Amino acid sequence: MDVLSLTFQQLAEALQPRPHQLKPLRARYRRLLNGSAPASRGATGPQPADVADHWPLEADILPIVHRHVDGELTKFVQRTHDGLEIESVVVPMQRYDQRWKTLCVSSQVGCARGCAFCETAQLGLLRNLTVAEIVGQVAAARRDFGLDIRNVVFMGMGEPMDNFDNVTQAVRVLTDRCGLSFSASRITISTVGRTQGIRRLAQLGWRRLNLAVSLNAPNDEIRARIMPITRIDSMAALREALLEYPLRKCQFFMIEYVLIPGLNDAREHALELAEYLRPVKCVVNVIPYNPRRESPWPAPSEESVVNFMSWLDDAGQMCKRRLTKGRDQMAACGQLGNRALARSRPARTPL
Ligand code: SF4
Repeated sequence: MDVLSLTFQQLAEALQPRPHQLKPLRARYRRLLNGSAPASRGATGPQPADVADHWPLEADILPIVHRHVDGELTKFVQRTHDGLEIESVVVPMQRYDQRWKTLCVSSQVGCARGCAFCETAQLGLLRNLTVAEIVGQVAAARRDFGLDIRNVVFMGMGEPMDNFDNVTQAVRVLTDRCGLSFSASRITISTVGRTQGIRRLAQLGWRRLNLAVSLNAPNDEIRARIMPITRIDSMAALREALLEYPLRKCQFFMIEYVLIPGLNDAREHALELAEYLRPVKCVVNVIPYNPRRESPWPAPSEESVVNFMSWLDDAGQMCKRRLTKGRDQMAACGQLGNRALARSRPARTPL
């Protein structure tokens, strides 16, 4: 039985341990999820023989087959059993004298959403990742990069809302106190703006979980040029879903805005964006565009990034900037996906 896809409670319900077996079972569950070798009878800690013998538990953490280091940032690749590649990125963070790592995980191999600025979109959707493959990225990173991976962001390959059930079950496993024990406030799900998914997430009542929305335009006309989702969910519908979402008092949406030269970086765009977002409790995260392969746009100049942020600021919209890391190794935002491998596989029809 693969523990990567189960919370401890789900595991216990499936195995029905006797009371004296609960504690060693929990210890074994935690060890497996944290990437330690399965404890044997001789291991320290509570480990009665029957727990190890009766239940052949495993954590099928896929091995890391490549690492690409770009400065402080590391992209790693795991190979799935059907020969696909999962890409994840470890990003070191620092605030004052505190240091920790954020892990950017994938929810799909490829993506059906077709955003024009995104490398992953060029793959099409190959398939959804399973719960074990999603949690396995975190378990592998903890094992190989240390326990100071404190934040998990669903901003790698894929649209999390298109794999809703597996992503939400992965969040349950990640936040299980008996296992990896992440605080939900340290997990962010980033969506392209699927209103149906935002409403389903709201229904779960996970008030501490963070939600990010990839907006990237001040109006439908510009957004539809780079994000086909706009034809299904207009920006008005998206804002309505956000306004209904039960945010905590101190919580904000993260609105991601990839700044693309000549497309969405003018002063009038900043003002229109600020106006659109006025009723929404949010911070705009300005992301200087990281050119994908064969990109029709270059990266923006430093001056245009600074200007755009000051226009937002003047209009009363809180904003911050995402530092550019990992461009050289195609590990930055919007640059994940191995096209060479994907070419040998038929992509699924877009959803
Ligand atoms: S930006 Fe996100 S949703 Fe859009 S194609 Fe890329 S991975 Fe998919």
